[in-house]
Amino acid sequence: MRAASAELRVEGIGKRFGDVVALDRVSLEVAQGELLTILGPSGSGKTTLLKVVAGFEAPDGGSVRLGGAEITSLPAARRDIGMVFQNYALFPHLTVKGNVAFPLEMRNVAKAEIDKRVTEALAMVELEGYEARLPRQLSGGQQQRVALARAIVFNPRLLLLDEPFGALDRKLRETMQLEVRRLQRRLGVTTIFITHDQEEALILSDRIAVMHRGAVQQIATTTEIYERPANDFVADFVGESNIFHGTLSAPGTVTLLRGGTLAVRSDKPVGAGVGVLMRPERFGPSGANRFAGEVIESVYLGTGFKLRLACEGGIELLVRQPARGPLPTAGARITVGIDPESVHVF
Ligand code: ATP
Repeated sequence: MRAASAELRVEGIGKRFGDVVALDRVSLEVAQGELLTILGPSGSGKTTLLKVVAGFEAPDGGSVRLGGAEITSLPAARRDIGMVFQNYALFPHLTVKGNVAFPLEMRNVAKAEIDKRVTEALAMVELEGYEARLPRQLSGGQQQRVALARAIVFNPRLLLLDEPFGALDRKLRETMQLEVRRLQRRLGVTTIFITHDQEEALILSDRIAVMHRGAVQQIATTTEIYERPANDFVADFVGESNIFHGTLSAPGTVTLLRGGTLAVRSDKPVGAGVGVLMRPERFGPSGANRFAGEVIESVYLGTGFKLRLACEGGIELLVRQPARGPLPTAGARITVGIDPESVHVF
C-alpha cells in the first residue's frame, strides 16, 4: 500500500549473535513523513534493528534502502540519519551551541549558516538562550531537547529515536512525547521511534510495528493494533485484555475451549480455531453476550472501576466500568454484557 512512497525500506534483515537470533528476517517500510513506532518487550530486537538502519551493526542478510538508495553497507556517518538515544550522549565538554553545531561542522557548513541553523533548531525545541550552557547545567528533559535539536539541525532524511524519554519522569515524558509529535509533524521528517511502553506508542505513532523475539508480529495503525490485533502476543502486549481460545463452530458463534459460547462477528471459516479478545472497557450493563460472576478484586481508579470477575464456566474477566455508585466489593455478584461487534476474533 505504501510501496510507492516508502522513504525507508527494510527487507529481510537477519542478525544473530552466536545462538541468539536478534532479528529474524525483518521487513518494514516507513512512508515519507511518517512516524513509525517499534514497540516490543526488552530483548525483542528493537535496538538491533535501529542499529542496522543507522549503520552501527552489519546485518547477516537483507537490505536497507533510504530514499530509493541502497545503504546496507554505507558507513553510518554517510547515511544522513539523525539519532537520539536514551542516555543523552551529548558531548559533555561542549556547550549547547557546540553540541547542536557539531553535525553541521562535520558537514563543513559555513559559519554564518551554522549560527542561523543552530538558532532555529534551538527555537524549535524551546531552548533559546541556553546556547552557552554545558550539558551538566541542564535538566534531563533539557538535555534530551538538545539531543533532539542536534539530530534535526542538518535536516536528516530519517530520524531515529531509541527510548529517548526512558530516563525522564512520567510528567516530563508526556510533555516531551507531545512535543516530539508536534515537531515531527511540523518538520515532516520520516521517523522511527523505539519504545517498550505501549501507551507512548499509541500517543505518538501513525503506525506501530510490534516486535517479539526478533520478528515483526504486526504493523498497523494505532487503532488497528488496539482494536484488531493479529495474535495473542499483540492483543496482550498492547492494552489490557481478556483473551480466550475456541472454535468458530457456526457462523457468528465461537465455542470456547471452556465456558460456553460467544456471539461474534467474523468472516473466518466455520471450524477454524480462533482467539477472541474482549477489551475491559467494552463491557457494559447489557449486551448479547452476558457474563454473571462474582467480584474477586475491585480497584477504584478515579476515572472508573477496575473489576476482576470469576464467571460461570471458570472464566475470569477483567472489566472496567465508569465510577457510578459505590465500588463493588469482593463477593458481590454482578452481570456484565458485551456486543458481538466488540468481540475481536483473530
Ligand atoms: P531493550 O528494550 O532491552 O533495549 P531490545 O528490544 O532493544 O531490548 P536488542 O537490544 O535489540 O533488544 O537485543 C535483541 C537480542 O539480541 C537480545 O537477546 C540481546 O541480548 C541480543 N544482543 C543484542 N546485542 C548483542 C551483542 N552485541 N552481543 C550479543 N547479543 C546481543
